[in-house]
Amino acid sequence: MAYQLAPKAEQLTPYDPIEGNYRVRLDANESFLLPTEEDREKLGRAAAEVALNRYPDPLASDLCAAFAKRYAIDPGLVTAGNGSDELISIILSTFLQKGEKVLTLSPDFSMYRFYTAITETPCVVLEKGEGFRIDVDAVLETIRNENIRLLIFSNPCNPTSVGLEAAEVRRLLQGTDALVVLDEAYMDFWDQSLLPEVAEYENLIILRTCSKAVGLAALRLGFAVANPRLTAVIRAAKSPYNVNAVSQEMARILLQNEQYARVYPELLLASRDMLITGLKALEREGALQKVYDSCTNFAYIRLEGARWIFDRLADNGIIVRCFGDDFLRITAGTQAENSELLASLRFLLQYRREHPEETEK
Ligand SMILES: *Cc1c(COP(=O)(O)O)cnc(C)c1O
Repeated sequence: MAYQLAPKAEQLTPYDPIEGNYRVRLDANESFLLPTEEDREKLGRAAAEVALNRYPDPLASDLCAAFAKRYAIDPGLVTAGNGSDELISIILSTFLQKGEKVLTLSPDFSMYRFYTAITETPCVVLEKGEGFRIDVDAVLETIRNENIRLLIFSNPCNPTSVGLEAAEVRRLLQGTDALVVLDEAYMDFWDQSLLPEVAEYENLIILRTCSKAVGLAALRLGFAVANPRLTAVIRAAKSPYNVNAVSQEMARILLQNEQYARVYPELLLASRDMLITGLKALEREGALQKVYDSCTNFAYIRLEGARWIFDRLADNGIIVRCFGDDFLRITAGTQAENSELLASLRFLLQYRREHPEETEK
């Protein structure tokens, strides 16, 4: 007998990160900063002391305590995951019965829909309007009309860089008893977090990550923060040893490091401001259509024929992300990287104006 793949398995398409050797990597919203040499030596010594023959602490208690201290919250509300990606997968497969509906917004982080495909939970997609601001009334109406059980969205949003103020998120939470998974992956770059009040809500799980402002994408660390009732479920559902001992120890050390925790996000923000200022100058000259106001460490721009620009930047060793035909997402890099990106973009936009016949699609 021939083995038949389940249709849901057959239909999976793997996540497709940009690979290849690019000189300037502005595609994945990572931090461009590494710990100092002194801190790296400390991390190396700590890693060497990890008991590699033993399973790690299943609840990553010391790490969760360091995370909780940094954000001034109760460690009893925190669960660590192997990246927030793992936590998204656990939450979608645990809090929904098969067939119950998920609401996602568009544009938003592509992984939300990726995991709903595996969990056999139908996904309703609500398009954001002009300006990409989330319309709370439209979201609440869709939740009612479509009988939604779980809403997941990023705030501030990847890829649009646009944020929704805390007061609006509160209004959303108070207007529904669906479970709301609020992905605050970029909230270190903005001041509208709901972390301090998370335990006041019955139906809120906040996700945070060490992959962006904290600069530890390689370690794979995310956190789910929720009231004790929801936290108990997340902890019961995760695989017992989901976060390895080396990641636990290294991240604990860096989260407790004042200099690293406070100064690095400021450096990333300064870089973001430089990038946005440069892009806004191009917007004022009419060279590109729109630069969205960024609450993150990246810029989102509307640029007609973005694909051609994307390809030429890649030819020059500069990689960004292209969305649809008309949008680019550009991560803030070092000053030198931002300068090179801005100069290349300016050159290409001018070249295209002067040689329309060569650059037609
Ligand atoms: C980068 C990112 C994450 C982080 O995922 P990890 O698995 O923790 O690296 C989560 N959500 C959004 C919206 C992101 O952009």
